[in-house]
Amino acid sequence: MDRAAVKVWTFGVLILLVLGEAWWRHLQPPVQQTANGGGYGDVQQIYQQVGASKMYHGNPARKWIALTFDDGPHPYHTPILLKTLRQLGVRATFFVVGKNVDRYPDLVRQMVKDGHEVENHTYHHLRLSQIPLGMVQEEIDAGAAAIWRATGHVPRFVRPPGGMVDHSVRLIAQFDGYVMVMWTQDPADYERPDEETLKQRLFSSVRPGSIILLHEKVPVTVKVLPEFVQEMRRQGYEFVTVEEMWKDMQHSLLRTTSRGRYGFPSPFLRGS
Ligand SMILES: [Zn+2]
Repeated sequence: MDRAAVKVWTFGVLILLVLGEAWWRHLQPPVQQTANGGGYGDVQQIYQQVGASKMYHGNPARKWIALTFDDGPHPYHTPILLKTLRQLGVRATFFVVGKNVDRYPDLVRQMVKDGHEVENHTYHHLRLSQIPLGMVQEEIDAGAAAIWRATGHVPRFVRPPGGMVDHSVRLIAQFDGYVMVMWTQDPADYERPDEETLKQRLFSSVRPGSIILLHEKVPVTVKVLPEFVQEMRRQGYEFVTVEEMWKDMQHSLLRTTSRGRYGFPSPFLRGS
């Protein structure tokens, strides 16, 4: 065979190999890309949140809702809200303001006693992206210290007042070991809408992994809670805390890694 014929044959074989591989791929079922039942986008979103220490929703593959109540404690409204949650058997997450915690530490202790999670909403409720960076750390740490003094619990999660957070604020919080918590739904209960409007805003937007932003001082919120909780449970939703959602996402990611194959514990969770 002369050289030209060898070239033609080689070229032909290469073409056949490429076409054959494309045909073979076409026959394969799509690759299962997640271990948690969600789509690939879910895992990517979870990676983004865990990697950036910034949480804006829970695992979208779980029918979980986290109710969050900001700005308390309040001497009149907090006991009513706590009573309602107790009657409903719902555990929630309270993002409390440090100066209020120092004024009403008993209410914060009652939250913990009732099984709720108490987290940090800074000390003075200042907009973190609008104050000097040195004050950002002070605001977050002073808020955490107030909770620690009242309950002995060191909060890990911070909700920035007004959701105002920029890159530097996030980095400061992350370096300090905190996770910033945003929300998926803001029904704007602070506008004090009427019952029907608030219900509509709440019911229309819930999805798996929802973190709902509510406020302690709003009577209409307490009013609609029983119906909302009942209906969500009927639809198969469970109410969990922010930390439970966060840990679940960490574990979901760990299940997607190859570490399990080698049988050693996770360096990330220090053996858990
Ligand atoms: Zn607030």
